[in-house]
Amino acid sequence: MLVVMQHGATAAEIDLVVRTIVEMGYEARPMPGAQRTAVGLVGNDGRVDDSRIEALPGVAEVIHVSQPYKQVSREWRPENTLVELSPGVVVGGRDVVIIAGPCSVESEQQILTAARDVRAAGAAALRGGAFKPRSSPYSFQGLGRRGLELLAMAREETGLAIVTEAMDEEGARLVAEYADCIQIGARNMQNYSLLKVVGRLGKPVLLKRGMAATVTDLLLSAEYVLAEGNGQVILCERGVRSFDPAVRNMLDLTAIPVVHKLSHLPIIADPSHGTGIRDKVTPMARAAVAAGADGILVEVHPAPDRALSDGAQSLYPDQFAELVGELRPIAAAIGRRLAPAPASPGKTAAVPG
Ligand code: PEP
Ligand code: MN
Repeated sequence: MLVVMQHGATAAEIDLVVRTIVEMGYEARPMPGAQRTAVGLVGNDGRVDDSRIEALPGVAEVIHVSQPYKQVSREWRPENTLVELSPGVVVGGRDVVIIAGPCSVESEQQILTAARDVRAAGAAALRGGAFKPRSSPYSFQGLGRRGLELLAMAREETGLAIVTEAMDEEGARLVAEYADCIQIGARNMQNYSLLKVVGRLGKPVLLKRGMAATVTDLLLSAEYVLAEGNGQVILCERGVRSFDPAVRNMLDLTAIPVVHKLSHLPIIADPSHGTGIRDKVTPMARAAVAAGADGILVEVHPAPDRALSDGAQSLYPDQFAELVGELRPIAAAIGRRLAPAPASPGKTAAVPG
């Protein structure tokens, strides 16, 4: 439930609404907005007496959010949420943010080379898994803490923000110490206890759509993070399982406008896992930006043929550079631009020009 205050409501009136909600046994979330302040009532169990709140001075209206997810919905918050990955690198605004790097962190030389390559080509953030969810327990599982240290080293040198996956509670705490954004993978999208933990770690979260999840499932999972007090969530369309073996997954680009309509959270697309095939990545990345994605997540490896995971869908660095060049005019055609690469390594990002 959302209590919308009148334009010009006083601080004392807002405070009275907050105190009344708390007194009724619920949590109050005041949200100052450009036009007016709203106060969210969290934990509505269907027994809220809204007439008591409606009668308070300064209240314009009480809105019952119609969706099963509440804080994630546009009804709750009409303005886009902006998620800052590092100074000047903001997802959800005008900029299209490119997050690129290998599937897994494999060695110091591999991740540093990848970071330099993607930065030179125009990426604003570096991806790379230190904890890898693999279908087989005998496949490379990631370097763990050492992988996080190597990512931090790459950030130090290039200034790129770090996005990396956490698979469990212990890993999430570790990832939060090193990374700028905690990725929750497709397989864990409905790991609700993990979502609650990352909701309390105070770091931006990149939440990938499960391979058999509906958009509503995805938004409800995001609600778990917001319900813990962390509004810094980026959603990611990474393809769903389909009946067609022509590609690894079916990238559902309609999820982008659908999410933008239903939610204020940004949504990016991952054409690498979304297709699973290198030569399909570039066309689908272009399409994702054209569809309004707030960013793209792309796997790029200095030597894909030797990659320890997902080599077949990883771009060669020169292919990635070419892709970024193609994305620029596509973004411009819809009134957007690519987020600038960080200006000086390890320091602040470039001033938008
Ligand atoms: C990844 O980003 O490397 C990954 C494992 O992605 P997903 O969870 O979408 O499969
Ligand atoms: Mn991968």
